Amino acid sequence: TKTIPDVVCPFCGTLCDDLEVVVSDDGKQLLEVYNACAIGAEKFLHSQAEDRLTRPRLAQEDGSWKEIGYEEAIEYTAQMLANSKKPLMYGWSSTNCEAQGVGSEIGEITGAVMDNTATVCHGTSLIAVQDIGIPHCTLGEVKNRADRVVFWGCNPAHAHPRHMSRYSIFPRGFFTGKGHKGRKVIVIDPRKTDTANVADVHLQIEQGRDYELLDALRVAFKGLPLPDVVAGIPKEQIYEAAEVLKSGRFVIIFFGMGVTQSLGKNHNIDEAIAVTRDLNEYTKAAIMPMRGHYNVTGSGAVWGWQFGFPFAVDLSRGFARYNPGETTSNDLLRRDEVDSVFVLGSDPGAHFPFSSVKKISELPSVCIDPHQTPTTAVCKLHVPVAFVGVEVGGCAYRMDNVPIETRKVVDAPEGMMTDEEFLEKVLGRIKEIKGE
Ligand code: SF4
Repeated sequence: TKTIPDVVCPFCGTLCDDLEVVVSDDGKQLLEVYNACAIGAEKFLHSQAEDRLTRPRLAQEDGSWKEIGYEEAIEYTAQMLANSKKPLMYGWSSTNCEAQGVGSEIGEITGAVMDNTATVCHGTSLIAVQDIGIPHCTLGEVKNRADRVVFWGCNPAHAHPRHMSRYSIFPRGFFTGKGHKGRKVIVIDPRKTDTANVADVHLQIEQGRDYELLDALRVAFKGLPLPDVVAGIPKEQIYEAAEVLKSGRFVIIFFGMGVTQSLGKNHNIDEAIAVTRDLNEYTKAAIMPMRGHYNVTGSGAVWGWQFGFPFAVDLSRGFARYNPGETTSNDLLRRDEVDSVFVLGSDPGAHFPFSSVKKISELPSVCIDPHQTPTTAVCKLHVPVAFVGVEVGGCAYRMDNVPIETRKVVDAPEGMMTDEEFLEKVLGRIKEIKGE
């Protein structure tokens, strides 16, 4: 066997880059994964599943599946996209930037709507950043400087399990030599989560009242009067939390879907950014979204360079339009505005509302995914591909916008294509069909 050091985990936006993976001498079998959390290790070990699908399959009238070759799958996908008036190309968060780049080219040539998982996740954060900017930093700065850590509407103990030990609560950094002892942790969450259990302060906010509490913190920073209770929190606790934050040397606010997708949406994030900006009058403060899929940040970056917008990009008129609420996947599906669906690197079948999933099942559809998922179950064609970050490398962006080169550790099963290879072939075929 041989051990590969410094492997990057392709599961969540923390992109831990200190994994060690043991593989067989011929590089065909992955045997052990060290340093990863349970969900990260599973991602690697899933690639070794004996019942893994290795060939595309087409849904039949009777509900069964027929195995087909990659050539046929490329033809089917190219024909579907080339013949659609307005295809929806959704997902892109669990693949590398190289594949995202080729996908964008297909989107341009077919007049598709390109959308990623931010549409049901941190899209609201992106809108807020466009509204008022963002005081940002890297996770390295958090580890080395942050002595006040806020988790608002997120639960890294479950969703980003090594975030707290690598960057935010426990590690000792250059100016944070006392590790956990030198940090004060505040969790704002209606639930008593496992993250709340390690916090110094847990503000158990009423569900959906984030905007009010954020606003109240801004009032408390200035020492102005507050009502007795705001968002279910007594004012004494709000003044106390405000003092804890103001007295820090470096404050970092991490936030998740509990605040991006609750009542107020992007306005919550406007206000959270304003809290961070206000704090910079007293100390140094930054704010960071807890991005979920390992390269959702990368898809926003790639489209940012190419189209100027990070999600919900409508290319159907031959130029990029962006209007969340109109050009976002669920709105388009609900209004019957797309005539085919292509999904790669995500699972809308598990995360979209039932009405949207039903629409996908009624439309011509293709899903590219190494796993069998609720989405592959409703799509007409399922194309299994190599695991990105395990069987093929490529660029991914960590949640703090730092690009990291992931690496291949093991060979994909004989004859399997990668996302990028499959998309390149589809692009070539679409160009032929369209006579370009
Ligand atoms: Fe992978 Fe995230 Fe776990 Fe790190 S915290 S090992 S990136 S799943």
